[in-house]
Amino acid sequence: MSEASRRIAALAIGAAIVAMAQALALAETKNVIVMVADGSGFNAWNATSMYQGRWDASRGKSTQVYDGPGWVAYGCSTFPLTTSKKPTGKGTQDADLVYAPGKAWGDIGAYGWLTKTYTDSAAAATALSTGTKTYNNAINWSDRNEPITPTVTERAKAAGKAAGVITTVQWCHATPAGFSNAHESERDNYEAIANQMLGGGVLDVIMGGGNPDFDNDGRPAGKRRECKYVGGEAVWKEIEAARGKAGATYKGFRPVSTKAEFEALVPGPAPSRVLGTAQVGTTLRQARAKKDTNDPARDTPVNPDLPDLPLMARAAINVLDDNPRGFFLMIEGGAVDWANHSNQPGRMIQEQMDFVAAVEAVIKWVETKSSWKDTLLVLTADHETGLIWGPKSDAKAFDPIVDHGKGAMPGFRYNSKTHSNSLVPLFAKGAGSERLADKVVGKDPVRGPYVDNTGVSAVVAEAVGK
Ligand SMILES: [Zn+2]
Repeated sequence: MSEASRRIAALAIGAAIVAMAQALALAETKNVIVMVADGSGFNAWNATSMYQGRWDASRGKSTQVYDGPGWVAYGCSTFPLTTSKKPTGKGTQDADLVYAPGKAWGDIGAYGWLTKTYTDSAAAATALSTGTKTYNNAINWSDRNEPITPTVTERAKAAGKAAGVITTVQWCHATPAGFSNAHESERDNYEAIANQMLGGGVLDVIMGGGNPDFDNDGRPAGKRRECKYVGGEAVWKEIEAARGKAGATYKGFRPVSTKAEFEALVPGPAPSRVLGTAQVGTTLRQARAKKDTNDPARDTPVNPDLPDLPLMARAAINVLDDNPRGFFLMIEGGAVDWANHSNQPGRMIQEQMDFVAAVEAVIKWVETKSSWKDTLLVLTADHETGLIWGPKSDAKAFDPIVDHGKGAMPGFRYNSKTHSNSLVPLFAKGAGSERLADKVVGKDPVRGPYVDNTGVSAVVAEAVGK
């Protein structure tokens, strides 16, 4: 080859590389936000919309912002690889767990298949975060007993983006852990998970509950309580010592805890990395003292001194959006699941309303500080909990829930105290949301076209880059 033709060949290869890089850059989205309402199936979302007076009976769907123009909507399947609680070593999909409309809707009267084949939050978060299905109990850990990499936040960090996870429950709980850089064979290894999240160099924002110095109502506990959710007692002492000193950090995180400290993060310049542990024992509000958990209007008021999910979301975004390459953020309404496990209709609606308010806060940020060209927003659930159906659904399976108008509890009942394998809602808007159409794996007679949670992960991974 002559020098000239060699140079032309080199130029051609160079042009091809530039074209590839441009294609990759086009696929990448600056900001990617995934919001997960834990344990919140279609009827939890719909009942909440009815309670809020945001229900269009003629269309059989809500008038919530995510049911409006510009959004794509699908069902999402959530089944795990295996319902084993330990790695089986096989790494193969248990075929009976795969969502199948005939099994889901066919077993009238018993909800049989749905109640025996469900995922837990750990396997579901792992699937959403890594695109790999695993056993129930695994935090980014495979059925072959190995770590699964990369997670979505590890991917974001490799792409030069900032990364965060925030929740209404303990910040090292299954869902934030699954979206983090933690890799653990058992979700209950909270202390180890918390320390991986703090020490991994991947997360820039971590926020949630689980404060050892406060009870579930947000009152000082008197005596320091469980420290495993914050990495153990010695770690917690160091975190609190740093919080007490202006500008001090723990492993690079500026610790915050009071509502005023969260509020101070919303406007203006923010620290580059923040660890927020709200002053409450477990969840921000769901585990507070009970009065009437069947109706929000008659229940114990929420403690106004605690942050809610919309405040945390605004604070987290203001920290993360300083990165010129953008960010990935997972926002979890973690306690919808807790209310559903406890069969608390009123508290479920309160938790889902908090989640919807956080969605609205995120949208406001997109539309005022960013744009839908620069941001992908995905809303979904990790699984359904409680088999919520209509008032007669114990005798007549899949009896529809009943709208009683704004401010009135809709008619529904629980048919389970745990998870189910039902499809869950999936909504998305912004750059890359159209790619979910390529991931449709089936059509459900009730919910329409659906995507698997690993398909959601693939679209999110492509948007994050790397
Ligand atoms: Zn659960």
